[in-house]
Amino acid sequence: MSHSNGPEVEWERLKAHELRALAEDDAVVIFPVAATEQHGPHLPTMTDTCIGGEIARRAARKAYTHQPTVVAPVVFSGLSGHHMPFGGTLTLDHDTFIAVIQCLVRSAIQHGFRKILLSNSHGGNILAIQFAADRLAQETCAIIVATTYANEAAKTIAPILEDQPGIMHAGEAETSMMLALKPDLVDASDLASLNTDRGRGFLYAGEASYRWRPFQHMTGNGVSGLPAKASAEKGERLLDASSDAIAALVASPETWEPAKDLRGDDVAGVPFRQT
Ligand SMILES: [Zn+2]
Repeated sequence: MSHSNGPEVEWERLKAHELRALAEDDAVVIFPVAATEQHGPHLPTMTDTCIGGEIARRAARKAYTHQPTVVAPVVFSGLSGHHMPFGGTLTLDHDTFIAVIQCLVRSAIQHGFRKILLSNSHGGNILAIQFAADRLAQETCAIIVATTYANEAAKTIAPILEDQPGIMHAGEAETSMMLALKPDLVDASDLASLNTDRGRGFLYAGEASYRWRPFQHMTGNGVSGLPAKASAEKGERLLDASSDAIAALVASPETWEPAKDLRGDDVAGVPFRQT
């Protein structure tokens, strides 16, 4: 179950009996959840799938000695309806996306896995993976955790970036990570012309309210942020920081603690149970 670079962490490279053994070892299953969608004129549509899969695999290898971990194949299509007007985008609808996640997670649970991490790399999926986690958690004894690397690693990502506070679509951070991972697929010939920074006026209304908008509401070229500030070196640091954060989440025993049952404590004289 190991190869030259340490333990094998990719589900699809393992045999069924090796995965049965991992379930016996109470391994974590990471389901990377991503997208195939337009990423401006300079990045390939695989961007979120490529970055999300890489962060999950690195995190699994980093966490492994504390917590055996296996990474399922990346869910390559998510909720990208807001990117459809730019072309190149393969989206699911909400019901199908949530159903796909539920089916995949239930499969792992049926095989005996009890620690499940939905590890998301696409902003449009955040609410839906939480929705799926809520549903799954209430039908099973498995612990279901939903994370998005851009948020989980926000504190260590921010100081690496010069012009953005965090991960934005096809901007400084994503372009940097793709320069590190797939430089042959990045068109870096004119990144300066792509800079788009219109602040946060995309999915907000009022002070703290939500309003759906398609992506062309914010940008004419499908980019949010400043890709001209990207570099492969910065991308490697971002991948390292992001996989560190996901590895810490996976390796922490607190993440997988069963829910407490505090009924009976602090009940001001009205006991929940008669003892
Ligand atoms: Zn992206």
